[in-house]
Amino acid sequence: MILIGKPYIEEDDEYTYLKSKISYNGNYETLWYKTRKDYGKYFCTERSDSFVIALLLFAMSKGEDIKTEEPISSRLYSNLVNNLIITLSKTHTEYHKINIFSDVSKDELYNEGRVGTGISCGVDSLQTIYQYTSNNCPENLKVNTLTMLNMGSHGDFGGEKARELYEKRMKRSEQFAKNNKFDFIMIDSNISEYIKMSFVETHTFRNMSAILAIQKLFKVYYYASGIPIWDFEISKKDPAYYDIYTLNMLSNENITFYSTGMSFTRLEKIDQITNYKLSYNTLNVCFNEDKNCGKCEKCVRTLLALEALKKIDLYKNVFDLDAYKKRKYKNYTILMHQKYKKNKNFVDIYKLMKKNNIKIPLICKIKGRILPNRVEIKRFLQSILSQEMYEKLKNKFWKK
Ligand SMILES: [Zn+2]
Repeated sequence: MILIGKPYIEEDDEYTYLKSKISYNGNYETLWYKTRKDYGKYFCTERSDSFVIALLLFAMSKGEDIKTEEPISSRLYSNLVNNLIITLSKTHTEYHKINIFSDVSKDELYNEGRVGTGISCGVDSLQTIYQYTSNNCPENLKVNTLTMLNMGSHGDFGGEKARELYEKRMKRSEQFAKNNKFDFIMIDSNISEYIKMSFVETHTFRNMSAILAIQKLFKVYYYASGIPIWDFEISKKDPAYYDIYTLNMLSNENITFYSTGMSFTRLEKIDQITNYKLSYNTLNVCFNEDKNCGKCEKCVRTLLALEALKKIDLYKNVFDLDAYKKRKYKNYTILMHQKYKKNKNFVDIYKLMKKNNIKIPLICKIKGRILPNRVEIKRFLQSILSQEMYEKLKNKFWKK
């Protein structure tokens, strides 16, 4: 049994904290969310919603029931016990069906009525901001507040290194908000350090728990999905494949979550944001670094897409385009390799390149086709050789 204590507020000079004492297996830990003091009044102590959702998959993976000292919102409680927990326990072997022992409350709380979304400065977040501030969006549903969360996207298990990266990335996000007249709110937390789970497998729950922590601020919150709706699949490890379901389940009387961007392919989203001038100096897609490295899969994929769209020069301030040109053969080889592996995002880029008469050298096509065999050979050797032998061979034959 995981016991979630009554949420309470603490403050220091700069931040307001929403805390709860967690008791599990005879150990006690204080979990917290923190935000700058001017937004601290929107933290919710009257419900356990945020801590329950932060710990839900952790509890289900351990097969542990949850008990809370404060009530859960009535709608959320019903969604969890009558639907979400049952579904996930049937579709994911790693999650067990658990009970939640908690009072419920149907009372609406004070709500400031903000409409929010995250600002990571990636393709999905910029496309959501673009779409939900456009003329097609009714005024009362237009995004006016941007968030930057530290719930695992800067390092699965949290810690100081992740926090450092979060703070670096936050500068760009906050600047974007400031320059474009959005309100900006940061929420940091130590929950990643406690649950120690893969972020990719838990991101929807972790991020939405932070928004539930501050549920007196938002009435609507958009969560950008990286997966189109036609690829919906409930049994996938990455919850992005079934966000539209989870977000409905996690909504309560005070806040409605929406999944956004699911009507478009990645390439269509990139195409859309090339019309969004605010993206030109802001776009940041890199897996590894604060700035776009130009070499990781996400950087290469985005650069290839921008090239296919013939819009790459618009992003000269956020990518080193000279370095991209120098790596051109390598990047085309990656494109052909991913196309060979039937990676939909790269297949779309390849088709558009063909349509726009961008020629791929034959050598890249051949190398892209051969590459998989090399990977398979490496895997095979790794499986039959000792690590030492494998490293020796690798250094001899595959050294760059
Ligand atoms: Zn990168």
